[in-house]
Amino acid sequence: MNKKHTDILIVGVGLAGIVAAITAAKSGKNITIITKTKSLVSGNTPWAQGGIVFKGLQDSPEKLKKDIMHAGAGHCWEEAVNHLCKNGAQLVQDILIDTLGVKFDKEKDDVTLKRVSEGAHSDARVIYNQDKTGSSIHEAALNYLQTLENVTIVTNHTAIDLLTFSHHSTESTDIYKKPACFGVMVLNNQTNQVFPMLASKTILATGGLGQIFLHTTNPKEATGDGIAMAWRAGARCFNLHYVQFHPTALYHPSGRFLISEALRGEGAKLVNASGNEFMHSYHDMGALAPRDVVSRAIHMEMIKDDADCMFLDLSHKASDWINNRFPTIYNYCLNKGIDITKEAIPVVPAAHYSCGGIGVNLVGKTSLKRLYAIGEIACSGLHGANRLASTSLLECVVWGYFAGQDSIEDKDDADYFPPMHNWKQGTDTIDKARLAQEWLSIKNTMWNLAGLMRSQDKLHSAMHILRNLQSDVEQLYQKSQLDPNIIALRNGAQTALALIASATEARESCGTHYVEG
Ligand SMILES: Cc1cc2nc3c(=O)[nH]c(=O)nc-3n(C[C@H](O)[C@H](O)[C@H](O)COP(=O)(O)OP(=O)(O)OC[C@H]3O[C@@H](n4cnc5c(N)ncnc54)[C@H](O)[C@@H]3O)c2cc1C
Repeated sequence: MNKKHTDILIVGVGLAGIVAAITAAKSGKNITIITKTKSLVSGNTPWAQGGIVFKGLQDSPEKLKKDIMHAGAGHCWEEAVNHLCKNGAQLVQDILIDTLGVKFDKEKDDVTLKRVSEGAHSDARVIYNQDKTGSSIHEAALNYLQTLENVTIVTNHTAIDLLTFSHHSTESTDIYKKPACFGVMVLNNQTNQVFPMLASKTILATGGLGQIFLHTTNPKEATGDGIAMAWRAGARCFNLHYVQFHPTALYHPSGRFLISEALRGEGAKLVNASGNEFMHSYHDMGALAPRDVVSRAIHMEMIKDDADCMFLDLSHKASDWINNRFPTIYNYCLNKGIDITKEAIPVVPAAHYSCGGIGVNLVGKTSLKRLYAIGEIACSGLHGANRLASTSLLECVVWGYFAGQDSIEDKDDADYFPPMHNWKQGTDTIDKARLAQEWLSIKNTMWNLAGLMRSQDKLHSAMHILRNLQSDVEQLYQKSQLDPNIIALRNGAQTALALIASATEARESCGTHYVEG
């Protein structure tokens, strides 16, 4: 079997993976960073619109800590919150501003960064670049990454599974060693060749899981691969049931697209198909009620009216003003045939952010030796049961940096690479209709039974459906010639089942986990 070896292997070229790579690269070690997508522009990072937490002019780490802990509904890990509040602003300055040269919007003096406040922030501390912050950060980060000589960037390669002593060593006594990861089994999407990438340290930075739900703001690669790989390898995962839903994503056959809360902040009305506003019958604050309240209200109205979507109407505002204030949203909708200056935008709530994930410590270490997890795929404990807006990009920077630093240290028996079993692959060709059907089942089950409004009955039904489905999909995977689609389906089914397991155990209705009754 053809094997490749690297000192540090990073799976994912979102912000977390890149920050880890550029930090670790300073050591001179060989770094390999892979993505399953053809393009380096991938993952949730380039889609972020709002901004990233920095520091307000009257701000303090204590004030930020209070806001994060409040949003997390008593479930945050205080040490993780302290870690971010203490180090976050300095790392944004050092890495994003001074090293990568990200262009954040500035005041008229052309020096002071513009800052805004967002829902549940007690200070204006979020910096941004128009309504395309994620893509500006990602572009600068990719440009810098590509200048580093000891970093090999590999596109169009899908991580299949983590390599562990207990699963892959032919040395039978290796199962008595402390569980450890020594790299990743990878599929070259173009040649269909499967080979092990051996690494002293492996860092998972595979992003979100939104695609396991019918409606999501996440791109199609967000299939929860990291969680599924970690789960199969026996790494601890927790808080998976805390998935934040965004109230308004564009409802269009081409897919969903985030319609920022700022529209409601600027007076957009939430209406049903007859043009009637409904939010005041759910909350005194109407359309400006908290995110989860608005999401559930839209969901209930859709069920009540048997409707596919509700509508967000800003057309009472002047066209020029809309065009200047929301250029990205205006142009995106116009491209889809919706002129938001003249008509209401069809919207649905959508799965947006995973607060849980692979359990990690302050430097991103998981419960498996030699394995780190960072960014959205990880559960650092920062977000608890709900995320404070614009803290996720900052979490990528902070945990990316500390994992990058820690991974360069030669510890944890990182030079042991056991002899391996030969890779066996199925020969069946994959029936695309079957793949489509299995995805539809996962997405509908998760949306209807484990989405915005859960109950023990619904979760048990979901568990029943997904247990059978996951077992069928696993069998399909074992028998098939591998391609990226069957790998994504296998991971989606596994992650969905893991989320349901987490939700059925969590009896308390809290944060993003809303249990009816
Ligand atoms: C629409 C939208 C708006 C948002 N707005 C904001 C905001 O304003 N502020 C904020 O702080 N946060 C925001 N977020 C959240 C934030 O963007 C994400 O949490 C963050 O970017 C995640 O970064 P990451 O590096 O962890 O992963 P990602 O950026 O998702 O990158 C994941 C990478 O892993 C790769 N990958 C996945 N599986 C595999 C595999 N099996 N093999 C190989 N490669 C793989 C992907 O191709 C990709 O390169 C938003 C998210 C969305 C979707």
